[in-house]
Parts: sequence; C-alpha cells; structure tokens
Amino acid sequence: MGVGHSSLSSCSVDSLFITAFTAQPKTSSFSNSNRQKPLFPTKKHSPFAVLKIGTLNCARVAGEMEIGKGIAAAGKPIVDLHGIDDGLIQKIVYDALVWSSLHGLVVGDRNDQRSGKLPGVGMVHAPIALLPTSFPESHWKQACELAPIFNELIDRVSLDGKFLQDSLARTKKVDAFTSRLLDIHSKILEMNKKEEIRLGLHRSDYMLDEKTKLLLQIEFNTISSSFAGLGCLVTDLHRTLLNDYGEDLGLDSKRIPGNTATGQFAEALAKAWTEYNNPRAVAMIVVQTEERNMYDQHWLCTLGITYNVRTIRKTLAEIDSEGQLLPDGTFLVGGQAVAVVYFRAGYAPTDYPSESEWRARLLMEQSSAIKCPSISYHLAGTKKIQQELAKPNVLEKFLESKEDIAKLRKCFAGLWSLVDSDITKKAIEKPELFIMKPQREGGGNNIYGDDVKETLLRLQKEGSEEDAAYILMQRIFPAVSPTFLIRDSICHKDHAISELGVYSAYLRNKESVIMNDQCGYLMRTKVSSSNEGGVAAGFAVLDRHSAWQIMVLVILKHREELF
Ligand code: ADP
Ligand code: MG
Repeated sequence: MGVGHSSLSSCSVDSLFITAFTAQPKTSSFSNSNRQKPLFPTKKHSPFAVLKIGTLNCARVAGEMEIGKGIAAAGKPIVDLHGIDDGLIQKIVYDALVWSSLHGLVVGDRNDQRSGKLPGVGMVHAPIALLPTSFPESHWKQACELAPIFNELIDRVSLDGKFLQDSLARTKKVDAFTSRLLDIHSKILEMNKKEEIRLGLHRSDYMLDEKTKLLLQIEFNTISSSFAGLGCLVTDLHRTLLNDYGEDLGLDSKRIPGNTATGQFAEALAKAWTEYNNPRAVAMIVVQTEERNMYDQHWLCTLGITYNVRTIRKTLAEIDSEGQLLPDGTFLVGGQAVAVVYFRAGYAPTDYPSESEWRARLLMEQSSAIKCPSISYHLAGTKKIQQELAKPNVLEKFLESKEDIAKLRKCFAGLWSLVDSDITKKAIEKPELFIMKPQREGGGNNIYGDDVKETLLRLQKEGSEEDAAYILMQRIFPAVSPTFLIRDSICHKDHAISELGVYSAYLRNKESVIMNDQCGYLMRTKVSSSNEGGVAAGFAVLDRHSAWQIMVLVILKHREELF
C-alpha cells in the first residue's frame, strides 16, 4: 500500500484519516540495527529515551532509493517533514508514548522473558508511526466494498471439499504441514459432517501499486487475523494527537475514519455464541504458549464485558489434555462446553510441535463447536487457493454476479503456479518483479530477489515436485515516503511503504446470513528497504510480526493528491 503523502497545505476537506496498525518484530530495533543508526539518536541525558529529531533531505533520499532499489518515486509527504519543528515532534512523541502506556496500546517486551506468558509483566508501547499517512479515498472505498464479496466467496469455496483437495493435491505431496491440514479436512469430509454455523473473522490485505495505481490484494487471511484490537487504539491515539497538535501540523482529526474492528469482531463472536444456543458454554481462544501480542487478543475480551460471554484461553496442548468430545458433538474443555473456538494459534508448523497439538485440532474439528476458522475456511485462505481462484473462469464456479466477479478480479495481482514454464522463465530473468510464496502464514516465509532466481534454478535442476510447495506472485511496488517511526521510545525517520488490511466478519447459520460486514481496518508500515522484516537490512531474526515495523494512521485522499 502506498504511503503517499500530500503536502500540509494541500490537506483538503476531502481528506479522511484512517488508523492502522503494524506488527512487532522480534529483535529488530532501530537503535541497534546493523543497517543504520537511528537518524535521530537518543539524547544521552534525556529523561526519557526519546528523541533528538533530526532532519533528512527527503527528496535526495527518495531519489537515491528510486535508483538504488528500483522502487518507484516517493509520494508527497502529508506534512513537510523538514518543516516540523524538532521541539514540536519531541512533544508529540512524548504524548504518544504516555497515551499508549495509559490506554493499553502495548505489546510484550522482547527483553523480558516473561512478557509472552504473563500479562502485566514486561510491557512496552507498540511500535507506531507518529503521524498519519495518506491514502486515496477511492481505493479505500474499493477495499471496503470488496470485504463482503470476499466473505461470500470464501464461504462458498469452503463448501467445495473437492475443489480444496484437488487444488492442494500436488502441494500435499511436498508440504508436510499442508498435508496434515488436508488429512483433517479429508476426515471431516468422510464423516460427511456439515458446519451449519460458520464464522469467519477475516482480513484482506492490499498494497497500492504506484505505477498502475491499482489496489492489489496481497492475501486473504482466514486464520488469526490479528491487530484488530491494537489497530483501533492507534486510531484513537492519532485522533487524540491531531486534536492536540492538528493545528500546528495543519491536519484535521475529523478526517480519521472510525475504526470499529474490535467491537465488530467481538460482536461477531458473541453472535456466533448466541447461535450455538447454550447459555452455559464458553468461547475459547486458542493461543500459543508464548504470545507477546496477547494484549491485542485481550482487547476482544469486551466479549465478556459487553455480551456476558465467558472466554477461556487454551493452548493446543492444553486442549488435547483437557478436551473431551461427547457423542452428541459437544466439546468440553476442563468440563466446560465450548460454543466458539477462536484460533489465534494453529496457523504455523511451529504451533504443532508434537502429535498432541494435531489431536487437539482434529478433536475440535469433529465437534459441534463453531470453529473460527473451520479447517475448510483455513484451507480456503491458503496462498495456493488464492492462486487457483485467480485462474480464468474459476470465480465463476462460486459466484453468480458478474459485477462482483469483476470487482474481485480487478484487485488480483499476477498469480501463477510454478508449472507455468513461461512465467518461471520470466521470473528467472527478472526475479525482482516476482515473489515466491510457500503455503505459510505469519510473515518471514516468502522468497525475494535473487533468491527467487536461485530457488527456481535449483528446483528446475532437481526436477523434484518441490515446486508445488510455492506459488509465484507479481511483486507490487507501493509508493515510498518518509515517515516518523517510533519503537522502544526512539523516534526516527525512514522511508516506508504501507499495506492496508480491511477486516470483515461473516456469520451464517444454515441459509441465514447473520453478518457479512466490513469491520474496520489496519494500516501497517514497514521500512521500504526491508522485504519482510529485512534480514538483509540487519533484522536478523524473524518472527511472525517481523514484516512490519510500525502502526500508522492514514489520511485518505483522492488519488491525484497522492501521486
Ligand atoms: P504472510 O501470510 O506470511 O503474511 P503475505 O502474503 O502477507 O504472507 O506476505 C508477507 C509480506 O510480504 C506482506 O505483508 C508484504 O509486505 C510482502 N508481500 C507479499 N506479497 C507481496 C507482493 N506481491 N508484492 C509486494 N510485497 C508483498
Ligand atoms: Mg500477510
């Protein structure tokens, strides 16, 4: 997603602000990155570890990036970053850090080992962007409009067990993780078990390709779509900052669109719980053994406060040891009936270190509890299925409306299987224009640049079927722009690109669609020189949040103002 900026003075009444969020890298820190020293290093004697905000010649650096990295020209800044007084920036950063601490805009601190296990211990403010980023209103609307159509598509795809199994058949042979998921899916098909109540809490991610001005989908997340909770808080934070400093910056907080992701996700979970119709049952969140992003998850616990639905948190191993499936399909954990199972774990091979975790997954799938996602929804969200859906005439199998089909197609980037020899040839010749993706979720798994070429050549040489583990995707190049980033209380300016995520909820009971809504948004920004967390750039250790450096708020603007 292009982080275009428009100049301060041109901030028109047509602008909107939206808020967004970015993920937290495990080890990278602006302050200790090998790649570069902070542009604005901490003042030695500063009472708090912030911010000597320096200046940067944006035009010069943007030019360098354009040549050096093959990235399209930077967008115009929302505000003239040179023009902002250092003292003002320091004040805003200070306020942002205080606000984040007071309002729970926090994640576990990677420097404290207990922070992934115990709430209330080792918290640090989430990485954020200080100021809003612009985004064209028309593309924003387009992304919102797509949400219910994708919801419906995924639901229909999930019902076509043969399509899922056939599409992933080659992948199954070479990808042990996908193979295990498909085995569970097969067992459910054999049981002829129908999921009558189906709940999806999704996030569709997009980047805005600078050259073509097209909003192109990166992926559709059907499992563990994170940051609804913290993303909403960033909206509130940026609105607060603009209420206080908007006049100085020439930005209007009213242009920030509301972000209701937390509330709507909680509402969807509560409505699913109601459909299950057992007042004594609980909603269960499936969690990893260690989770530094736990506060994002806890924000959804408004479920308990607003809807009086009790929630429990369990790991897959705990579910295996405490879970029991009754003959009528009721799923008990620790003796309590479970109405809704909400997965915030279970999407990565590392979530299944032993057979115990796989047993738990199968047991839940066999039960009558509402799974978010079901195994079918999970598979429908794989990258291979994304690529299959992009083939000619495939959408037509699932949707009737020509208009809806055209809208979806418009946001599809180039997607190919590796059996397409013309494309693999092109990718070997120009690897910088492609990305190779395995069937994995959570960041840090994709292959970029020269590694694409090397991997393709190796696969060709070996002649194995390992090629089926990957898809090829057109690389999207969003606009690059200077952005103030804050992590570990240190603020510095860097060149960033953004990705817009639009949340959506889908709830259905048999023929009745109870909810099919767009539910707020997430804007993530990452340093443009990093692919996914930037191993090359010195961020040596990856985790599932490493792709993104910061959460940002966005100003929606008309396209022509952006470029
Ligand atoms: P994951 O399931 O690991 O999140 P994604 O498909 O979202 O996988 O890819 C991870 C990240 O890689 C994205 O957030 C984005 O930064 C980058 N990326 C993925 N696909 C593309 C693409 N086609 N063009 C440019 N960047 C991409
Ligand atoms: Mg992603």
